[in-house]
Amino acid sequence: MGYKNKTSVLVQLREANADRCPTFGHEVKDWSLPQWGNAVAGEVGELCNVIKKIDRGDFSLKEANKQFLIADEAADIVIYLDLLCQRAGVSLQTALVQKFNETSEKIGSDITIFHY
Ligand SMILES: [Mg+2]
Repeated sequence: MGYKNKTSVLVQLREANADRCPTFGHEVKDWSLPQWGNAVAGEVGELCNVIKKIDRGDFSLKEANKQFLIADEAADIVIYLDLLCQRAGVSLQTALVQKFNETSEKIGSDITIFHY
């Protein structure tokens, strides 16, 4: 199933996430907000674990990036965050644009983002 005709990766992600969820044996709505929240937190923990290992010298940032360790966990976070937002009835894309621009206005920055 392709989502290539969608313009925003977050729009693609939202639709693809919902369509793929049954592959894991449930619909988005079947998990509670705490379950989705725990999934997000678990992925944040995995990212922090990678960062901890870099910090203590198990491997360098360069080595971690060669293996996509940070990228993979950051992506996992966003994937689960989108699912959490869907379950909560929130558009992650809209929320990002609104919050980013609201903060820019608050701090006097003219840097804004938009979605199309
Ligand atoms: Mg992960």
